[in-house]
Amino acid sequence: MQDCIFCKIIDGEIPSKKVFEDELILAFHDISPMAPVHIIFIPKATVDSHINSAHGISEANSKYIARIFEKIPEVAKSFGLSDDNGYRIVTNTGKDGGQSVNHIHFHLIGGKALPITTLFG
Ligand code: 5GP
Ligand code: ZN
Repeated sequence: MQDCIFCKIIDGEIPSKKVFEDELILAFHDISPMAPVHIIFIPKATVDSHINSAHGISEANSKYIARIFEKIPEVAKSFGLSDDNGYRIVTNTGKDGGQSVNHIHFHLIGGKALPITTLFG
């Protein structure tokens, strides 16, 4: 989608530090990490089926979301996260939810004890 930062990352127009990619999804390091591990997972649904937020998930596009959640444990493990130390998965949704990029994404955050009440302290 035009003017979408994450679509530009998918297209390679904006560089990113990729950690995983397949035909459905891309994971890359957040440019402004809130913890030692802060990875963003996005679907590669762009022109035809841009998913703006969690509010846009439907039967037609849920395979992207399923793939993201299939891969999160694998990627988490590769960065030293586990059942034991744990981590957090966050998706801010819309204006009141604090979403700043309108291409659905899931933050994988860990590597330190995270605040309980709010995500960003
Ligand atoms: P949101 O606030 O929408 O939940 O999260 C958007 C996230 O995208 C933020 O954590 C922000 O740091 C990250 N971000 C914004 N622009 C870029 C970029 O150009 N590259 C990378 N790697 N991350 C970005
Ligand atoms: Zn996009």
